[in-house]
Amino acid sequence: MRFTIAIDGPAAAGKGTISKAIAAHFGFAHLDTGLLYRAVGARTLDGTDPIDAAKALTAEDLAAENLRTPEVAQAASRVAVIAEVRAALIDFQRAFAGRAGGAVLDGRDIGTVICPEADAKLYVTASAEVRAERRYLELVGKGHETTRDAVLADVKERDARDAERAEAPMKPAEDAVLIDTSDLAIEAAVQAAIDAVKAQRS
Ligand code: C5P
Repeated sequence: MRFTIAIDGPAAAGKGTISKAIAAHFGFAHLDTGLLYRAVGARTLDGTDPIDAAKALTAEDLAAENLRTPEVAQAASRVAVIAEVRAALIDFQRAFAGRAGGAVLDGRDIGTVICPEADAKLYVTASAEVRAERRYLELVGKGHETTRDAVLADVKERDARDAERAEAPMKPAEDAVLIDTSDLAIEAAVQAAIDAVKAQRS
């Protein structure tokens, strides 16, 4: 059985949590495609050329520590504008999407570019302020020193770069179901996402 669920949306909208919960609910494999761009971005911080890094990406790169820092997130969104970087990562993502047993991929361009034929598509979003507050609490919880203003500025900068780039800009696919998690507790957001997938499935 092949079944692909595409989940897109901006940073800290709840995509990751929703994707993991959906994968667990349906018993599908999950790929966080942001991790690919973060791994490439992280390599550029030590001077590696981004296109070379994308072409030579290894499982070890994906398992590197500190891929979840704001610095790596910004580096990821800078390398993500490069067409050759995106092209180098397509085959891996499509192979994952087509695996037997079902797959959930989350990112920015899954429903539009990577898997336009996905069986179900969601676009998970929330206001920039709500997303920044969530990310702020997450970072402080992990011991990072930052401020709400700095995190909001970071979120807005990354949103703008991701949405305005020429290559595979972040946007909802025309047939995606929109889920705004601004006023939803995580359990409610997960339930709304599961319901939306079931509705697209039937
Ligand atoms: O989802 P995450 O915050 O880990 O993504 C990091 C960055 O990687 C994003 O800001 C975006 O620039 C890039 N990305 C992308 N396409 C994807 C997933 C992530 O361009 N499918």
